[in-house]
Amino acid sequence: MTSPESEAHGPETTFADLQIHPKVLQALSDVGYESPSAIQAETIPAMMAGSDVVGLAQTGTGKTAAFAIPILSKIDTESRTTQALVLAPTRELALQVAEAFSRYGAHLRVNVLPIYGGTSYGPQLAGLKRGAQVVVGTPGRVIDHLEKGSLDVSHLDYMVLDEADEMLQMGFAEDVEKILAETPEYKQVALFSATMPPAIRKITSKYLHDPVEVTVKSKTQTAENITQRYIQVSGHRKMDAITRLLEVEPFEAMIVFVRTKQATEEVAEKLRARGFNAAAINGDIAQAARERTIAQLKDGTIDILVATDVAARGLDVERISHVLNYDIPHDPESYVHRIGRTGRAGRAGTALLFVSPRERHLLNSIERVTRQKLVESQLPSVDDVNAQRVEKFRESITNGLSNPGIDLFRKLIEEYERDNDVPMADVAAALALQSHDGGEFLMTEPPPEKRRERPERDSRDDGPPRKRRDTRDDLATYRIAVGKNHRVMPGAIVGAIANEGGLHRSDFGHISIRPDYSLVELPKKLSSETLKKLERTKIQGMPIKLVLDRGPKPFRGNKPR
Ligand code: AMP
Repeated sequence: MTSPESEAHGPETTFADLQIHPKVLQALSDVGYESPSAIQAETIPAMMAGSDVVGLAQTGTGKTAAFAIPILSKIDTESRTTQALVLAPTRELALQVAEAFSRYGAHLRVNVLPIYGGTSYGPQLAGLKRGAQVVVGTPGRVIDHLEKGSLDVSHLDYMVLDEADEMLQMGFAEDVEKILAETPEYKQVALFSATMPPAIRKITSKYLHDPVEVTVKSKTQTAENITQRYIQVSGHRKMDAITRLLEVEPFEAMIVFVRTKQATEEVAEKLRARGFNAAAINGDIAQAARERTIAQLKDGTIDILVATDVAARGLDVERISHVLNYDIPHDPESYVHRIGRTGRAGRAGTALLFVSPRERHLLNSIERVTRQKLVESQLPSVDDVNAQRVEKFRESITNGLSNPGIDLFRKLIEEYERDNDVPMADVAAALALQSHDGGEFLMTEPPPEKRRERPERDSRDDGPPRKRRDTRDDLATYRIAVGKNHRVMPGAIVGAIANEGGLHRSDFGHISIRPDYSLVELPKKLSSETLKKLERTKIQGMPIKLVLDRGPKPFRGNKPR
């Protein structure tokens, strides 16, 4: 079952090979991660060995686990002192990272505390007082706690700068350096950044000791006989999307790739409930059962296999006409391996990829590394799906007509027609209705997507605030006392105001940066508490003195530096 290229790929690193704390290993198995992603396979051993690490990695690569796993494995859970500090640019990311620590540390006695601006100090102070071995925070709020004396980083063993380039772009350079200055010299530092501009290089050479640099080398060849398409789908619509595809896309057999073992079972189960012949394979399934499932795929008993990367490695089944990347892979190398499961024996194959707006950068890196553009394709519409359903219904009638078993039923129905004087079309329709179990035969248009108030993940995924030609009547224009002469960028304005004011990206309208002040559209109704906080918020070390803009009157801003 193993193809030559999978052997050439070499033995797979497992989490068990990485000297991870057994209780962390247990948590990883609970969450269903099968094997380390590329960034994890390189970062975890380096951090376990005590090295500083610089990782070139974006969200979606598994970088959070790459630093959280070794830190949790090494932390002293007997002591309540703060041993690890993670700095993140936004409160969404800080929360997400804190959640990840809690998840991977579920079997350890570890307190993880997120601290970020825009919320009251009370619970954070209480949490710090109780003692949190891991603190995850945005730079501004971390500084506040250092100044208040509520956070002590003088015994820190581990420090992580997550999305370092974003932090600098948002104007946190000074804060980050200030925090670093409070930490002990001996601590281990890991810095992750999607890009390596000179400012990051500078921080790296100043604060990291002989760091191990982690970038992921990729196998980059994709076969020419495979057509590659992607479809934009947001996460919660993926099940609807796959159902439509399976109904409309002509395929012989398909492998559906998901990220975790649990997801293989969940997706397969949901597909079976919708009437598809689907089965799951993952690393937990015994070899004999796996072989049986693959035999069923080969002989057409099942048409859809829902698999993790590891479980499908080396799979060589000619019938596989399609690969669907239901969850986008962490790295281009996995993508290349996945889509290599189709187009076997010189046949044509189709590779499909679901991508949400916030995973766009992963698609870009797949395209960059494979040096191949994926064609955007639209999800089949409700009309397409219904046209297929009608077509299949008609086919089923045609097939039934040539089945010899029809004779008995014809006789019974002729009797029924005679006795009840009902038109034949009505009788047939009643039978068709029965065979559909009363379920909905035609698909209806789902309700339009509601915009979420607060997405569960990073707000930056929504992209930069758009310049609006259309004005939003929920917004008002505010002035802040920093402008071009103070060298502020829109990112820094959004970062500071969002973090300190507890606002979301979608709360921002147009931003106009003038020489010595800037105009920012924000919700008309800001609470007096938020307004007070925003008056005092600093960008590049200067108070922004946010006020409602009252037109071109004199305005006392900051003196340019
Ligand atoms: P991150 O890049 O840290 O934001 O992680 C992206 C997503 O990948 C998160 O949903 C993680 O839960 C998931 N993830 C991280 N590591 C693994 C792994 N080794 N196997 C499967 N999923 C993972």
